Amino acid sequence: PTASFDILPSNQPLADELRQNILKNPGFGRHFSDHMANVRWTVDAGWHGHAVRPYGPLTLDPAASVLHYGQEIFEGIKAYRHADGSVWTFRPEKNAERFRKSAHRLALPELSDEDFVGSLKALLAQDHAWVPTPANDSDECSLYLRPFMIATEAFLGVRPAHEVDYYVIASPAGSYFKGGIAPVSIWLSSHYKRAAPGGTGFAKCGGNYAASLAAQKEAEQHGCGQVAFLDAAESKWIEELGGMNLFFVYKDGRLVTPRLTDTILEGVTRNSVLTLAKDEGLTPEERPISIDEWREGAASGEITEVFACGTAAVITPVGELITEHERIRLNGNGGNDVAMRIRTKLLDVQYGRSDDTHGWLTRL
Ligand code: PMP
Repeated sequence: PTASFDILPSNQPLADELRQNILKNPGFGRHFSDHMANVRWTVDAGWHGHAVRPYGPLTLDPAASVLHYGQEIFEGIKAYRHADGSVWTFRPEKNAERFRKSAHRLALPELSDEDFVGSLKALLAQDHAWVPTPANDSDECSLYLRPFMIATEAFLGVRPAHEVDYYVIASPAGSYFKGGIAPVSIWLSSHYKRAAPGGTGFAKCGGNYAASLAAQKEAEQHGCGQVAFLDAAESKWIEELGGMNLFFVYKDGRLVTPRLTDTILEGVTRNSVLTLAKDEGLTPEERPISIDEWREGAASGEITEVFACGTAAVITPVGELITEHERIRLNGNGGNDVAMRIRTKLLDVQYGRSDDTHGWLTRL
């Protein structure tokens, strides 16, 4: 049974004209809709107090354990407006499942899939006008949804908090790439590691991202927008980027991505790409892939494309990998045909331009 959300409407929603102005050029992550969904949890009462409230600052006790010990998890998922005006989201049950896995690892309470998806629906019922309308088929605007869970108990003892809050906020997003999709350069972090076996790499917790920022700074100093991380034990195996999963296209039709371990975040996009690749006649392989294989495959032309994928940018071709010692560049004769073909297929489903043959869409 789905708990119903109490609606406490904002008495100061943004004026239509101001909202429309924002939606024309929203950028990413700077503007927020009028409301937020909230569910409370206490060790005694469990999940309760389902509500959609006006968006605004949280009141936290300075001793709230999230501020000290980082007991926090989050998700990222988009709402898309179709040509008929209806609003849909993509595989929310996958995000709900990942959110439960993250909660378990961070010793936070697990939220049911019904409450997770229900919270998105309840928020969108109030804030549907915040979902931008694409101007054309290459306008990849959306409403980015950010569910998160924080430990709010005012207690400085180091143990799982007895009071927790779950929220969903929403932020309109414009096309990630303005002026065409150009292959990106990626920095290989040789010193910093993102995740270790037994750690939190597979969980979407704030700490993983805090720990990746020093490497991200290094990447920017080398003219790269993203960091690739190697495994912690051998510094040999490719894991993923700071916020995206990686794929390698081979001349013979294989599509290789690192197999899932507890050091890799399972992307919903990654999972969808694996399915779409099969539909395209490619042969997906989930297995370890080493930095040597990348170098040699790029030099020999065996690897024809490398691409990264995630909810924010969908699929991004990777042009080169820059390390302390070398630049690994693809031979470049393959173009980015495979990446772009899969990209278009995925977007066509998300924006309702092709049949949802895999049953991936949920109406909000
Ligand atoms: N890896 C990491 C570390 C990420 O933060 C993300 C973004 N959630 C991804 C991969 C891609 O996941 P998804 O396709 O679900 O957005």
